[in-house]
Amino acid sequence: MHPTIAPSALLMSQMMSQPMMISSLLTHAKNNYGTTEIVSRRTEGDIHRYTYADCEQRARQVAQMLSRLGVGPGDRVGTLAWNGYRHLELYYGISGSGSVCHTINPRLFEEQISYIINHAEDKVIFFDVSFLALIEKMLPQCPTVQHWICLSDADNMPASDFVKLACYETLIAEEQGDYDWPVFDECAASALCYTSGTTGRPKGALYSHRSTVLHAYASALPGSLSISSAEVIMPVVPMFHVNAWGTPYSCPMTGAKIVFPGAKLDGESLFELIDSERVTMSAGVPTIWAGLLQYVKENKRTFHTFKRTVIGGSTCPAAMMESFREYGVQVVHAWGMTELSPIGTVAGLKAADLSKPRAEQDHILQKQGRSLYGIEMKIVDGEGQQLPNDGKAFGDLLVKGAWVINNYFRAEQSPLVDGWFPTGDVSTIDADGNMQITDRSKDVIKSGGEWISSIDIENVAVAHPAVLIAACIAVHHPKWDERPLLVVVKKPGVTQDEDTLKKDIQTFFEGKVAKWWIPDDVSFIDKMPLTATGKLMKLSLREMFKDHRLEQ
Ligand code: AMP
Repeated sequence: MHPTIAPSALLMSQMMSQPMMISSLLTHAKNNYGTTEIVSRRTEGDIHRYTYADCEQRARQVAQMLSRLGVGPGDRVGTLAWNGYRHLELYYGISGSGSVCHTINPRLFEEQISYIINHAEDKVIFFDVSFLALIEKMLPQCPTVQHWICLSDADNMPASDFVKLACYETLIAEEQGDYDWPVFDECAASALCYTSGTTGRPKGALYSHRSTVLHAYASALPGSLSISSAEVIMPVVPMFHVNAWGTPYSCPMTGAKIVFPGAKLDGESLFELIDSERVTMSAGVPTIWAGLLQYVKENKRTFHTFKRTVIGGSTCPAAMMESFREYGVQVVHAWGMTELSPIGTVAGLKAADLSKPRAEQDHILQKQGRSLYGIEMKIVDGEGQQLPNDGKAFGDLLVKGAWVINNYFRAEQSPLVDGWFPTGDVSTIDADGNMQITDRSKDVIKSGGEWISSIDIENVAVAHPAVLIAACIAVHHPKWDERPLLVVVKKPGVTQDEDTLKKDIQTFFEGKVAKWWIPDDVSFIDKMPLTATGKLMKLSLREMFKDHRLEQ
């Protein structure tokens, strides 16, 4: 515990107290980088380009449109959209007017999506045309939603027999944009993002204007993502998942040109944009980069302007760093979480490391890195005792800081332990402050950067008539990093041969979970390892199946 001093004992400063407003990031960009471009590959397939000045004007029209629709301060407004300029306008129009921008991950299973829309009580949902079928299914289960607004112009509006759709471009064309951004308490909620936690139910991280602006400052710094007006940034990491690692805020803050890839995330499409828009830096999960590297290799292409890429969300494989290096691209490894909005650490070399041999430098760069200023980290043992930062001792990683949640949205009990947020990651921290993840104590599986809830999988599995106990763990996969393996103890008397039973169990999941959640493999064991309290002992299961190979 830090000692405190009573306010009455202090001499207070005479500096202005200016609340940190998200809208001020975009007005700053308009005033200083008004002609800098924002380029988007649209779902319509064409390339759209305009400037920060255009974006700011349209964000004000969005704010006016929301007020006309009856959306007020504190109301939640959902978005189901790819990375693009309209999504950016919503980020600012919604948060800037005091409402809360709830970005929804379309990769979640339908039941989870309707759960989070209801939990957030979204009043309006904005969505890209490609999500219409999903919206139509969602409609009857989402009574709080008063307006479904398609991010399209009138010419490209889809027809729907099920839902009364409004057209985004038509609505904002009705507004003049003569709107003054309001100034209010910087601790007010600005955005909401749900993460699938260990309990299976998604949990909401509710960010503030203050936390978002501070995160933008820290993440843009040299040695962090090093974002500046000289850069052309292509955020591949989705705006529907942890705010595209804060780039929609750090780019306007610094005046960087933005290139949004839309829905096309295959290697060829990404390469085309990097090449034609002279992208200098990008950010995304390893799975995306595997596709890009494969395309570049197979087609003997080279990068001309592309110098750096930030990799996070999962451990960056050493081989991927090396492949990028062969193409002249430096990999910046970063770690973060939805609960941190999201960046906590970034790997990098300090001056004293520059004279070290390449292998030693690589060893440092492959770690998850040092905490950004504003985030504190510590590791603790099972009893909560702090462990030394010696690069050897590993324990539960706890964090605290200006952009770490102190509770989940509408949760009764805070997850904090003595003021620290338990990340569910297990790591070491070396004497230089470099953190390295060695394991995960939370049971979720991360496939291609997206979560699969092991608990949801287990709940479905135990409903199968032949399953007595089921445990779902992550096993390594060369493309997706992790994929689910289901480990099953059969009920006594089950005589079916194991190959048939395995297929039968996999088919049993169809329609009950998202297709990409279905376990890649099922293994049968005689006795499930359990903890003293009768819980599945995932650590020993992971150890037992650490060499398990999945069919490609
Ligand atoms: P999310 O909240 O979906 O962003 O997921 C956060 C979790 O992803 C972390 O708690 C880690 O388990 C994992 N993660 C994020 N970045 C990395 C990284 N660079 N290396 C390993 N795991 C990571």
